[in-house]
Amino acid sequence: METVTVQKYNLDEEQEKKEIVRHYRALLRALKPRLKKGDRELVRTAFEMAADAHKDMRRKSGEPYILHPLAVAQITVEEIGLGVRSAICALLHDTVEDTEVTLEDVEREFGTEIANIVNGLTKISNVIDSNTSTTQAENFKKILLTLADDPRVILIKLADRLHNMRTLDSMSREKQLKIASETVFIYAPLAHRLGLYIIKSELEDLAMKYTEQDKYREIAKRLKETKRERTRYINEFIKPIKEVLQEEGYNFEIYGRPKSIHSIWNKIKTKGVQFEEVYDLFAIRIILDTAVEKEKADCWKVYSIITDFYHPSPERTRDWLSNPKSNGYEALHVTVMGPNGKWVEVQIRSKRMNDYAEKGVAAHWRYKEGNQTVQESKFDQWFTQIREILNSPDSNTLDFLADFKSNLFTEEIYVYTPKGDLKILPVNSTALDFAYSIHSAVGNKCIGAKVNYKLVPLSHKLRSGDQVEIITSNKQKPSEDWLNFVLTAKAKSKIKDALKEEKRKVAMDGKELLERKLDHIKASASQYNINELVQFYKQPSPLDLYYQIAVKNIDLKELKQFHVLGDKLEPPKPVKVHEPQPEEHHKQVSKKDAELIIFGESSDKIAYKLANCCRPIPGDDVFGFVTASEGLKIHRTNCPNAAQLLAHYGHRVVKTKWVKNREISFLTGLRIVGMDDVGVIHKITNIISGELKINIAGLTIESKEGLFEGLIKVFVHDKDELDELVDRLKGLEGIQSINRLED
Ligand code: MN
Repeated sequence: METVTVQKYNLDEEQEKKEIVRHYRALLRALKPRLKKGDRELVRTAFEMAADAHKDMRRKSGEPYILHPLAVAQITVEEIGLGVRSAICALLHDTVEDTEVTLEDVEREFGTEIANIVNGLTKISNVIDSNTSTTQAENFKKILLTLADDPRVILIKLADRLHNMRTLDSMSREKQLKIASETVFIYAPLAHRLGLYIIKSELEDLAMKYTEQDKYREIAKRLKETKRERTRYINEFIKPIKEVLQEEGYNFEIYGRPKSIHSIWNKIKTKGVQFEEVYDLFAIRIILDTAVEKEKADCWKVYSIITDFYHPSPERTRDWLSNPKSNGYEALHVTVMGPNGKWVEVQIRSKRMNDYAEKGVAAHWRYKEGNQTVQESKFDQWFTQIREILNSPDSNTLDFLADFKSNLFTEEIYVYTPKGDLKILPVNSTALDFAYSIHSAVGNKCIGAKVNYKLVPLSHKLRSGDQVEIITSNKQKPSEDWLNFVLTAKAKSKIKDALKEEKRKVAMDGKELLERKLDHIKASASQYNINELVQFYKQPSPLDLYYQIAVKNIDLKELKQFHVLGDKLEPPKPVKVHEPQPEEHHKQVSKKDAELIIFGESSDKIAYKLANCCRPIPGDDVFGFVTASEGLKIHRTNCPNAAQLLAHYGHRVVKTKWVKNREISFLTGLRIVGMDDVGVIHKITNIISGELKINIAGLTIESKEGLFEGLIKVFVHDKDELDELVDRLKGLEGIQSINRLED
């Protein structure tokens, strides 16, 4: 195969007009079976509006621009299987973006539904064409956001992308690479998920043509050379099956399809094999023209006929008749040993199933557009799920994208509720994912599950066929470590939402405290003043400031050094707040930095957070753990989560040790059990705050049958201080036990 040379465009005006009309007629022919009364006029109006709007524009190849929307409309109808309204949108898809035509014009002429879709298409191209500094990930998120409006937006966008990929030759090399990578990264997976397998393959092949030119050409060439040999083999394989099917009176189609260039290349890469070992891979497809009520039985009948001739590989049989894929794909796949010891995959399906397989969600959408009552499909569920994720306002874009992509690609498992309802989840989903798939409120309160009547923890990985009952408790709250084992995007985003909400609640206390303190120095809690404080304490947001105040990481001591002018705060000049002590001189750090520094082996400064699950304090035996989204977290080595983290994610563990620092206090708790004695509380508090000058954050005492149990929260600087405190308390008469609280 030679490099495609760009054909010089050299038609005169008359020829050009003919060419445009020819394409327009072809579109009408494709639409013909669907045209209802008045539709032809609508399509014409759209065509004229677009042709007029683009009349002075040309594509990079030199062609009149209108040929592009015409081609996109043609693909939308013929290859994706959408109808009249979608074709109209395709014709108009670039008008609002690139020409004088406004959204209002479109709405006036064609109504709100079409205007909305055109608007969605405009939004997408705005995202893609903008050369702003936004990252690729953010762009993709925006693309996906438009998907939430109407699935037809993304279907037409795929048609647009397919046509652009087919005509990519005239673009600059740089553009080719950019567009091709975008295509592999998001459009091909989307097409796959939407069930548009043919389009997905073509997009991947076209992208490879530009990103790996040499490999692409080589494989294409060798496929061509081996075509005759392959055809002969397919015919030999098909022959006996065909004869029996005819004898039995089936209406059917049978043919062989070679694998796409991209998938052959993938095999060569991932399996480390030679072209010779994979080039003859192909699938045989049998499509039965049979009534809906007989299709399942007939597919199995065909299976039986095939296996009369060829031996099946039991572990490579896929029954998507009984359990369709979540994107709606139904078929029966069997891999058999063909002549010459070659494995051959045979795909058996009915015409209706084939329609779904080739047009995917579009077929579904078409049935829906025809106003037939279609049961809510798996696709709708998937779509709802994507919409939910997209609607959660925060969610880190990169995380989101990774989740989204992993959801696009993963294989699925089928699990059941106690009532026998089917749920489809990605492979490796946990009991907690299942809980969130039922409802976020169920997930948030989940404390465990029964899988096939056996009690299992939240992190238990489910398998196909499991029956799962979720156990909830009203006292349960989502915790950070849940994010370490949930898999589904829905669970992740709901947990993050809940954690944020929790943080917000805690922060409210900090806010009140701050307001009181400000009141005290006669400054108002104005936006201006809050921002001054946020900056002074180097917090990312007011919420973080309030939160840090609430959990006493910020004690507002420095507030006294602020000047108050009117009711405005003016931060103190950055002079030395205290005389540096000689021994800490060599690694003197400012107070606010100190809160964020520990030293690993390299003694680099690293930002970290203390894990909520074990609340380490300086002096504890700790290790650092690099989390996917929140940087370094410090856990105690005896943290309940430590074993799991160390075992599974050894590579993410960082050695850490504490720096002596007397300026920061850490909240920790003790449980004291002892004889209920008059004055015991006084003795305890006297030791803590009187003798050791340790701040108490909270104290509750309950007494029962001569014993008391006290929960004490204190601020200590490090483990030495805590140990000393424990020792002193143990010295009191009648104390039975003192334990550190884990949370
Ligand atoms: Mn376009």
